Amino acid sequence: QKAAYAKLRDVEPFTRDGERIEVMMNAGLRDDVGMLAMTGADGIGLYRTEFQFLVSSALPQRERQARLYRDVLDAAKGKRVIFRTVDIGGDKTLPYLTNEIGKQDENPAMGWRALRLALEREGLMKVQARALLEGCAGRELNVMFPMVSEPWEFDAAKAVFEQQLDFLRKHKHQLPSAIRYGAMLEVPSLAEMLDQLLPKLSFISIGTNDLTQFLFAADRANPMLAERYDWLSPAILRFLDRVVKSCVGYPVDLGVCGEMGGRRLEALALIGLGIRRLSITPAGVGPIKELVRKVDTKEIGEAMRGWLLTPPENMRVALQDWAKQ
Ligand code: PEP
Ligand code: MG
Repeated sequence: QKAAYAKLRDVEPFTRDGERIEVMMNAGLRDDVGMLAMTGADGIGLYRTEFQFLVSSALPQRERQARLYRDVLDAAKGKRVIFRTVDIGGDKTLPYLTNEIGKQDENPAMGWRALRLALEREGLMKVQARALLEGCAGRELNVMFPMVSEPWEFDAAKAVFEQQLDFLRKHKHQLPSAIRYGAMLEVPSLAEMLDQLLPKLSFISIGTNDLTQFLFAADRANPMLAERYDWLSPAILRFLDRVVKSCVGYPVDLGVCGEMGGRRLEALALIGLGIRRLSITPAGVGPIKELVRKVDTKEIGEAMRGWLLTPPENMRVALQDWAKQ
């Protein structure tokens, strides 16, 4: 089977009815980027910048951050890379920041983490913004913010970047050739505010790992709960369906970057909902490309519409049976 996936490496993932599905991969270390060539992924849909912070014994200096971003773009050889600003805090505490973050959170996933922390520790955010702008000089910068719960947080984060951009412009530094701003949709409240947010950004990436845990109030890291809810539950699919519909009419790229998209039935369901960009674990790229080539988006779209209206007793079984046929 590995050989079959290797053959697909250079094959663009078009569905049977000619829809191009972007199959990107998630990464977090400089060395992960080599998997782009190995898997033939379209790019990196989620680069978790906090990994550099987590493996460092001290806060990474701006030059080190910028060098990493430049190296990642070099290694990606022109394929698109979406950098996510740090998602630290909560349970991802940093030894050199222990007094400032983490300790006091009783519910770390819902605590002082990601953008919430970054907007308050403005120095951290400013340094990362500068590093990303410098690291992507002369090239396109794609940046997205984690755990945006309300549109103002996106505005505040973007303002930090724009301020740093002004500084670099004033001092005649080379700037990125373009900047595309995006937000992760992983906190359910943001879905209620999309009409306010969508006019302001270029793309949305749905983080189904966190989104699911918040939607079901079920800790994503607790194995006791793993069987209690399903990515294919009608509640999630209906939620995602509403998000897809909310984006219609806006020039905004919508994708999914949670692990959900790396599993066959789940990816099938997402395509049925109208999602056209998946960013997944590198090991999933081959299998998902193979799946894409077997799918007809109109057929799965129609089946999905029926299931959303009248949920089958077991969505997983229904999708499995449909896929077999
Ligand atoms: C997510 O929450 O779905 C996601 C992609 O981000 P992370 O897994 O890093 O929280
Ligand atoms: Mg997340």
